[in-house]
Amino acid sequence: MLRWKGALETMKDPSTQIYFHPLSLEHDTGYGHPERADRVRAVRQRLQSSGLEGLDWLTPRIATSASIATNHDVDYIASVAKMAGKGGGQLDLDTSLSKQSYRAALASAGSGIQAVNAVLKGEAKNAFSITRPPGHHALASMAMGFCLFNNIAIAARYAIAGHGLKRVFIFDWDVHHGNGTQDSFYDDPSVFFCSIHQSPLYPGTGSSAETGHGPGEGYTLNLPVPAGTGGDVYQRLMVEKVVPALHAFEPEIILISAGFDAHERDPLAGVLLTDGDFAMMTRLVLEAADRLCDGKVVALLEGGYDLQGLAGGSEQMVRALGAWGRQ
Ligand SMILES: [Zn+2]
Repeated sequence: MLRWKGALETMKDPSTQIYFHPLSLEHDTGYGHPERADRVRAVRQRLQSSGLEGLDWLTPRIATSASIATNHDVDYIASVAKMAGKGGGQLDLDTSLSKQSYRAALASAGSGIQAVNAVLKGEAKNAFSITRPPGHHALASMAMGFCLFNNIAIAARYAIAGHGLKRVFIFDWDVHHGNGTQDSFYDDPSVFFCSIHQSPLYPGTGSSAETGHGPGEGYTLNLPVPAGTGGDVYQRLMVEKVVPALHAFEPEIILISAGFDAHERDPLAGVLLTDGDFAMMTRLVLEAADRLCDGKVVALLEGGYDLQGLAGGSEQMVRALGAWGRQ
């Protein structure tokens, strides 16, 4: 890490960092699978061709298995490595592995850790990691819903253990409930988990009655919405629920589980957000972050299965991240 220091210290104006690892293309889920490599190709291509200025592209280092073990059982990690090592296989009905999937998952988690490190050290204004495989359904000892390791939970654990943070806020706007992330921190008051998601929908969790447990009671906020919900309702939920929760919790960093499957074009869900609604949510988070934690925001890609909707939503989010703080 030290060898990076000199170069980074010469950066005068921290920019928005974008993390992309070529291994994300090597996780082969099989023909016709919605969670496919073309997704991250589409995001990368759109961000590179959209004329956005001030983005700092980086290739992350892959995470160690010890980093993954901050949120996952070692036996589970070993079983993923072993299955991939044998050429691949099926972890659950819709989560499959190819030969490079384990390393791709390490790279995916690594980009979240590195983005958090850069933002907390002031080397980046904010960051977006184009993480694939995604992570928010992954449980401590089980893959689920296209997710192997829970990238955002690992990033939150790193912020706490690696930087001594006491309060991390995770906002999950993927259209599916981030059950794995919620489960990781359900009894933990140091990580606030807030999710807007379609209900009923996979994975079936995330009712408004799920609010945390024990010392974590009150540190989980679920905002389920029915199919057909549009940006006006999301904006109201942001202003009336999410932003007040941010202010009450006073996080030291805000992590976004940025799925784009709440887009109106998405084939797997029925929420009706447009590209611009993702800019609206990003700006509201940034506005709160500016007041609460010096603008420290890291977004990690989760779902999003229509390539145009995924690319359009990502571009609007990154435009908002990049423009923030200017004028
Ligand atoms: Zn999703």
